[in-house]
Amino acid sequence: MPKTLLRILSSLKSISLSAVAVFVVTMSLCFVLVYTMANNRSQVERLTIEQLLTEKIVRINDDISNRLQKAQTLAVYVQRSGGDVYDFEQLAYMLIDGDPVIMNLLLAPSGIVTYVFPPEGNEAVIGLDFFSEGAGNYEAVLARETGQLVLGGPFDSVQGVPLIVGRLPIFFDDDNNQNFWGIASVSLNFPFVMESAGLNELTALGFDYEIWRIRPDDQQVQIIAQSTPTHGHNRNYVEMTAHIQNTEWNFRISPYRPWYAFFETWVSLLLAAGLSFFSAVVRQSYQDLKVLKNKLEQLATIDPLTGVHNRRYFMENVAKNISRVERLGGQSYIMLLDLDHFKHVNDEYGHQSGDKVLVSVAELVGEILRPYDLFARYGGEEFILFISDISESGALHLAERIRAKIAQTPIEVPGTSITITASIGLAHAGVQSEIDRAVFAADTAMYKAKSGGRNRVVLHHEGDSAPT
Ligand code: GH3
Ligand code: MG
Ligand code: MG
Repeated sequence: MPKTLLRILSSLKSISLSAVAVFVVTMSLCFVLVYTMANNRSQVERLTIEQLLTEKIVRINDDISNRLQKAQTLAVYVQRSGGDVYDFEQLAYMLIDGDPVIMNLLLAPSGIVTYVFPPEGNEAVIGLDFFSEGAGNYEAVLARETGQLVLGGPFDSVQGVPLIVGRLPIFFDDDNNQNFWGIASVSLNFPFVMESAGLNELTALGFDYEIWRIRPDDQQVQIIAQSTPTHGHNRNYVEMTAHIQNTEWNFRISPYRPWYAFFETWVSLLLAAGLSFFSAVVRQSYQDLKVLKNKLEQLATIDPLTGVHNRRYFMENVAKNISRVERLGGQSYIMLLDLDHFKHVNDEYGHQSGDKVLVSVAELVGEILRPYDLFARYGGEEFILFISDISESGALHLAERIRAKIAQTPIEVPGTSITITASIGLAHAGVQSEIDRAVFAADTAMYKAKSGGRNRVVLHHEGDSAPT
């Protein structure tokens, strides 16, 4: 395992900065994209929640209001009968019509609970004075004072279940005076109200909900209903206030699945990582190819032993340079340099020493040359130079300097140091079309230098036994 890790780490060293940059940039772009997508999704989600919430509120409001209407019917009944209550049970039975949400219907003349249906389970309410005792007396007083139906609760009741109640005041018109008769009341089983509104569906859909109100009698926040369990804060919540009769109920719904709980997010992130990695690999391959291409180009133009250009490069570039010199009206010269008795060096000191001499000579010549001169290994122990923008005497002088420097510089080889000399042939380069002739002329001059005793410079003259 550590071996594999080491291999990965060592391969990392050769990863180019641009590949890393490509990875980082692609990854960042993908992140922005994934984030935007997640954001869009949560906006769509918000709209869904708002719609869902509106539907629930409308339903809760309808459910409650429809049932509270039963109190109105009771009130009309009392007013029609002139305050005499008879057949209450029959009427109440019809009004409830088997609705399990309605806990009871009752009448409280002067606020004292006197009639209640169904009697079972509601025994404890009989005789209760709405104006002085029990939960919901605040609402009863408010109803009497405002003349309106007042919704109260939910609060715990003597029946043992949380109730919401509607208290409706009943008045009789008498000589233009409104005489208060009592209260008609409807009690609803609050958990059943919530259940029939389908609040549990919200939990199944992945939402937390909370409903609260400000309790009118003590101004405290009262949580009316809440999903269980709750999942903590999610900032994508939606709040709405519902006006149900005289009360305000506040609803808050929040999705409890955060961004990382969505499968799509992970798939997107995985795709992003894959894409970034792929882009980086492509970039890296491109980089590697470029390096390889440079290496190949170098291999194709550089002499591997001496590090100077090779003959191919020389011939290609001489053509370019010569036309530039032609345009400017300058002179240029070809110089051929052949080491003297080089075979002897190999024989005497070994091939490796011979190599060392070749490298050193290339260095010595390179030190003398100007940057725009061309210099190459022509083959074996022969070097070739193209010297531009120079007069004949200048070229001769340069050739002489090169010859002298080679002759005077001892070269270190294993075990000893040796000196070597070179024969140099020089020829005017002329025009581009005659470059081969010029090289041949320099070669002829070089052989003249050899036959003339070596270690010398010979300039080719027109009319010499030049090639045709
Ligand atoms: P001359 O003065 O007439 O030029 O004599 P010379 O010995 O230099 O000429 P010759 O052409 O007979 O020998 C050239 C030698 O150069 C033969 C060959 O072994 C040697 N040579 C050519 N290329 C290399 C090389 O890359 N490394 C080494 N060490 N020797 C080389
Ligand atoms: Mg030779
Ligand atoms: Mg030679």
